[in-house]
Amino acid sequence: MLITESVRKLDPYTPGEQPKVKHVVKLNTNENPYQPSPRCADVLKTFDLDRLRRYPDPVFTALRARLAKIWKTVPERIFIGNGSDEILTLVAKAFVEDRETIGSLDPSYSLYKTLAAIRNVPFIPTPLKDDFSWDGKIATQGTALSLFLLTNPNAPTGTFTPAEVIAAAAKRFKGVLLVDEAYADFAKTNCVPLATTAKNRNVIVMRTLSKSFSLAGLRLGYCIGPEDLIDALYKVKDSYNVDALAQAVALAALNDLKWVRANVAKVRRTRARVAKELARRGWDVPPSESNFLFVRPAHRPAAALFEALRARNIFVRYFKGPRTGDRLRITIGTDAEMDTLLAALAQLDRA
Ligand code: PMP
Repeated sequence: MLITESVRKLDPYTPGEQPKVKHVVKLNTNENPYQPSPRCADVLKTFDLDRLRRYPDPVFTALRARLAKIWKTVPERIFIGNGSDEILTLVAKAFVEDRETIGSLDPSYSLYKTLAAIRNVPFIPTPLKDDFSWDGKIATQGTALSLFLLTNPNAPTGTFTPAEVIAAAAKRFKGVLLVDEAYADFAKTNCVPLATTAKNRNVIVMRTLSKSFSLAGLRLGYCIGPEDLIDALYKVKDSYNVDALAQAVALAALNDLKWVRANVAKVRRTRARVAKELARRGWDVPPSESNFLFVRPAHRPAAALFEALRARNIFVRYFKGPRTGDRLRITIGTDAEMDTLLAALAQLDRA
């Protein structure tokens, strides 16, 4: 056999659809509906071609200095990846032995399970309660769980676990606890302090510029954690994992936090409005601290509604399965996009 057994059996991660046609309302991959900072455009316009002739900075000196300043920590505690998905792959490489296991909440980001399959190690889910909350207890099923991937706010549920609960879980846990904060800018608080204090030996907090910074196409994520764990990630990464252009554009974006905060505030306002309206129509709307809602329709099965919306060029996300199959995950778009969605849903309700 030319291909390994684990890859032959692999159920690959399926990203949300990127429709080819224009004029769609695209609410299916949690992208930001607003443009990135105009400072990013300035970098693209003036970027010196000579910098592409040379290899990029392999240790992201300027970006780490900026991030260290933002989070009041030191550059030695920061690692940068080609999107936060790359960091997840590296974490699974660096912190998990062949005989160990990886865990996460269930439901959560479905890539985690695929990562365990790629590493050919068992995956242990920790089921969330009926209301998608988590009490901080990690299921181990009697195995040596060496990595727990905790999305907070969680995806696709949007629900939020307070930092104190996560801190207590980290204390009890013997492996590496990675808090995936892809959506934390849309939440009330975050866990970065758990990753910057010297006393926590096993907590890594991960961020991405794909959501709040409107830069999903750029591919830039980072994580903060204890220096020995961060060093381990540098050891296993590709030499030049983040290209020069991405480093420069990301730096410009990180120098314009005001822009990001304004967009986040708009998304949160729209989120509150749409959540209220769907609840008024009888939908089940769990509280979301994220840039999406994970909602159960009042009158039609979610799968049928997903198709009916798609036929109207409105793309939302549907995950089949026992915990997720009766819901839709709807990314918060602009107010105009959400009005189009709400009007289409009202029309489908009458049909
Ligand atoms: N974590 C979570 C929970 C996500 O939803 C996503 C986006 N699909 C990612 C990480 C990856 O983000 P990126 O690779 O764009 O940084």
